Amino acid sequence: MATRSIPVYQKDSAVHSLVTKIVSCLPIHSLAENDQSFFKGAGESDHVVSTEDTIFHPQGGGQPSDIGEMNQNNEISFSVKHARKLPDNQIYHLGSFANPQKLFNAGDVVSQNINSATRNYHSRYHTAGHILGLAVKQLEDIVGVVSELKANHAPGMAFVEFQGLIAGEHKAAIQEKASGLIEGNLEVKVDWWDIETAKARGIAVPEGSAPEDGTIRVVDVVGVGAYACGGTHLHETRDIGGIVVRKISRQKGVTKISYEITDV
Ligand SMILES: [Zn+2]
Repeated sequence: MATRSIPVYQKDSAVHSLVTKIVSCLPIHSLAENDQSFFKGAGESDHVVSTEDTIFHPQGGGQPSDIGEMNQNNEISFSVKHARKLPDNQIYHLGSFANPQKLFNAGDVVSQNINSATRNYHSRYHTAGHILGLAVKQLEDIVGVVSELKANHAPGMAFVEFQGLIAGEHKAAIQEKASGLIEGNLEVKVDWWDIETAKARGIAVPEGSAPEDGTIRVVDVVGVGAYACGGTHLHETRDIGGIVVRKISRQKGVTKISYEITDV
């Protein structure tokens, strides 16, 4: 998070459908080799679609891609299995058409629908990662002063990494603090702050994330702390369910805390 460019999700995370227009629709194999390499696991007949606007959160900032559908008048149906922001800054949707004879054309009006269950699951994992980072920060008198380096919020492999060493004996305290922050049902707000305000409030501003208007997207767990972040979040921490701190491991001055979420 601190050192990488993050794709910015512009929409309210409650928006799960959108009408927009097709910009391009290309067979995956027609992309330049470097661009194809962003879509590992693509099928032979898959296509890559870009649109004027999108509600699909692309993979990035530690969060997996949304999945879902794009449809035109119930006649053309495109199933989206992956979205990525490529170096040209455009978001591309990888997927397959229900009927290989009926493809999108530039200018077509389409409706986008993301899979809400998958989005919500990712948002829970993502928000839990911030809670874990904030729990460690609140415990710095006990665990020591560390700084967050990066995080992965993908289910099954989620972790937060810190510069500095955290002893394994602090696992129970971190677990208790993180669970307390969830149960406290804190409000999670997304806001845009100017760079000076963000820095003054102790936010690590990722390189390459400064937009032209000088503001940065911030997720603020109200009363606890904020991050520069382009991902999708819940509005209240209790909706995470529960968090389980799995493992604290240390290597070369870096501590990695892995975690999972639970339904309770
Ligand atoms: Zn976030």
